[in-house]
Amino acid sequence: KVVESKTNKRAYEEAAKRLKLQHDARDKLIPKLRVQSRREYLAKRKEDKVAELEADIVDDEYLFDEVKLTKREKEEREHKKRLLSIAKQHEEARELERVQRYHMPKDMKTGEKGEYVEVDEREKQPNSEQKKWEAEQLQSALFKFGSRDVKPDEYDLLLEDEIEFVQVLRMDGSKDIDRKPEVTESEKKKMNIEETKKSLPVYPFRDDLIAAIREHQVLIIEGETGSGKTTQIPQYLYEAGFTKDGKKIGCTQPRRVAAMSVSARVAEEMGVKLGNEVGYSIRFEDCTSERTVLKYMTDGTLHREFLSEPDLGSYSVMIIDEAHERTLHTDILFGLVKDIARFRSDLKLLISSATLDAEKFSEFFDDAPIFRIPGRRYPVDIYYTKAPEADYIDACVVSILQIHATQPLGDILVFLTGQEEIETCHEILQDRVKRLGSKLRELIILPIYANLPSDMQAKIFDPTPPNARKVVLATNIAETSLTIDNIIYVIDPGFAKQNNFNSRTGMETLMVVPISKASANQRAGRAGRVAPGKCFRLYTAWAYKHELEDNTVPEIQRINLGNAVLMLKALGINDLLHFDFLDPPPHETLVLALEQLYALGALNHHGELTKMGRRMAEFPVDPMMAKMLLASEKYKCSEEIVTIAAMLSVNSAVFYRPKDKIIHADTARKNFNHIHGDHLSLLQVYNQWCESDYSTQWCYENFIQYRSMKRARDVREQLVNLMQRVEIDMVSGVTESINIRKAVTAGYFYHIAKLSKGGNYKTVKHNQTVMIHPNSALFEELPRWVLYHELVFTTREFMRQVIEIESKWLLEVAPHYYKPKE
Ligand code: ADP
Ligand code: MG
Repeated sequence: KVVESKTNKRAYEEAAKRLKLQHDARDKLIPKLRVQSRREYLAKRKEDKVAELEADIVDDEYLFDEVKLTKREKEEREHKKRLLSIAKQHEEARELERVQRYHMPKDMKTGEKGEYVEVDEREKQPNSEQKKWEAEQLQSALFKFGSRDVKPDEYDLLLEDEIEFVQVLRMDGSKDIDRKPEVTESEKKKMNIEETKKSLPVYPFRDDLIAAIREHQVLIIEGETGSGKTTQIPQYLYEAGFTKDGKKIGCTQPRRVAAMSVSARVAEEMGVKLGNEVGYSIRFEDCTSERTVLKYMTDGTLHREFLSEPDLGSYSVMIIDEAHERTLHTDILFGLVKDIARFRSDLKLLISSATLDAEKFSEFFDDAPIFRIPGRRYPVDIYYTKAPEADYIDACVVSILQIHATQPLGDILVFLTGQEEIETCHEILQDRVKRLGSKLRELIILPIYANLPSDMQAKIFDPTPPNARKVVLATNIAETSLTIDNIIYVIDPGFAKQNNFNSRTGMETLMVVPISKASANQRAGRAGRVAPGKCFRLYTAWAYKHELEDNTVPEIQRINLGNAVLMLKALGINDLLHFDFLDPPPHETLVLALEQLYALGALNHHGELTKMGRRMAEFPVDPMMAKMLLASEKYKCSEEIVTIAAMLSVNSAVFYRPKDKIIHADTARKNFNHIHGDHLSLLQVYNQWCESDYSTQWCYENFIQYRSMKRARDVREQLVNLMQRVEIDMVSGVTESINIRKAVTAGYFYHIAKLSKGGNYKTVKHNQTVMIHPNSALFEELPRWVLYHELVFTTREFMRQVIEIESKWLLEVAPHYYKPKE
């Protein structure tokens, strides 16, 4: 009864033909646009994709005159047409799949060290495709139906929509694993902290590690995620006396959630109050004191500390943790710490990373020795979908339920791209679980993302009750920064949110992009920490092989360097072209950053920091925002601008839109709309909240997120302090919004767009087509000139947070950048 798949050869052949068509069509896409094709396609997932694409093309045809199309626009249109044909084929292929799903050719296998290698052509026998396919059909059927603890009625419930996976390969575990019975979750609960610490892979190496650190000034530490690098090593150093002379041990993290969560854990392990001996420091929040000896911080915070303490004199050890993440700040820290290590021989430097890039780090730090912590890694079976999944949120929900109903107990980790997606998935999943009622075991759904309050974040570490299953919906943070115990199943849709900067157009856009192979493998690895696990990739083996890059491009090579360059200049590092970069940024990005700082008045024409630049560097925000804050002095609206800056820094999380009250929420939101644009709407939200005496009830009634407002208030307080530091008086008193908008323009004059045909806008400097985001107060107003805070790419390039400006202001606020027309 349970094995359903019978080979339907004809259907398979037809499906394979379609598949080939689909791939051929995809291959013909301009390579540059290929990534976009998946992205755009997915962005369309909510509605009927084909219809929408069609409408889009008709739209474009209506709006644009063929002859006047630029090359890029033509390309874009062609691209859309191709997308449409792919979407159509996709629909057809889906029809066919309902008869008999097809699979991807198996063309990769596991190599000797667990890496992926392509199957040698010679290994492929004639007709072997068909045989393999049949074997896999059997195998995947076995996977789905094989587990013993499924009750038939539960299974029927889920059968109507399920995803079929094919197992393509197994990622091997480490050879040296000792297969003694695993410590189960309930046993672990009984283990006290001391025992837990001893069970971590790093523990047996404690003394060796300390000895190595004493012997070498710089040490690269490499170990599997979860081996105890972040939580244990600072404690070992503390116990070994590295803080005796009144100096601290610092440890950087690329993410603020990690800094907070890890320090909380370490404080607990050491039995101290967080903020005393163990503390953390992140942007706009310092939880340390005089007594702090173990200090966790974001890499950005340490970068900033160089301004006040260029030799890191108060530290005896500095750990650059999660080095493999290669964030912009981490990359710059490499150069800075390498430099000070030369003249501070008493400073120990540890560069710690997951099992990636260690050789590269060693080479950069003058061949520093690498200390490897042998990991315990169990094999992980990797499954791919047979066909692309257009709606990966839905696919996640289906997969979670499928695992829950058919697989032995063990927790599930799902990788999504951000808060919004996590909330959507959470809602759908909760709803589905509710409808299934008591037919299933308990499923505990836990989200984790940066904006989640820390008490909620801590919940992901609570042990799962017996006979229940935990599913953690996480952002990239769970890839390597946080380790959640007891994860057996990983669901990986294959996407992440990424900031990208186009140095040609000077535009920075936040968008969802396919992850790299390296990332995909890190994610899969999360399933094999406590027992053999399974990773379900919601993409095809073909996509893995052909569409994913090998490695994620380091941030320094893809984002705007304005902030980093300003900081380096403020540190007195003038010759940036010869700065010791692990991977240098592209020349044009560097030049563009210098130009931008010059236009903002932060650098003079010799490239030296001006007084303005020095003041700008005081603010832990990007240079445009810093300039806006400083300009509020001239326009006598510092109170308002500080509020706007604080609100912008939490902006995407201000408005709350529950699914069952969308209309109410949207009406409430419209009530805040300001005729001159969104910055001013945000200002009204904040001011009215103040008038309500910071009331939670007020937030609730107006569909505003209280947490975000609280954070905005904290950020605002910090900014006010910094304004005092640069000696700007807090003044208000403008009744008209012109001055406020001028101050904003003084910072963001790069982000100007002018109305063109069909309600589209063109950016002034580079003539890119952009649109006002439908959420904006100006969406229907279409003023002639607008300024935007950021660009977001979903279905197209949208400007988010927009105000109306007058073009003549540009000459007033940015004379270096805008010249009057002759
Ligand atoms: P690594 O840095 O090598 O990836 P960590 O030091 O982060 O490893 O993790 C070691 C162990 O500590 C893991 O088992 C992890 O689950 C546990 N851990 C880390 N943070 C917390 C926390 N906030 N609460 C409970 N356990 C935690
Ligand atoms: Mg770590």
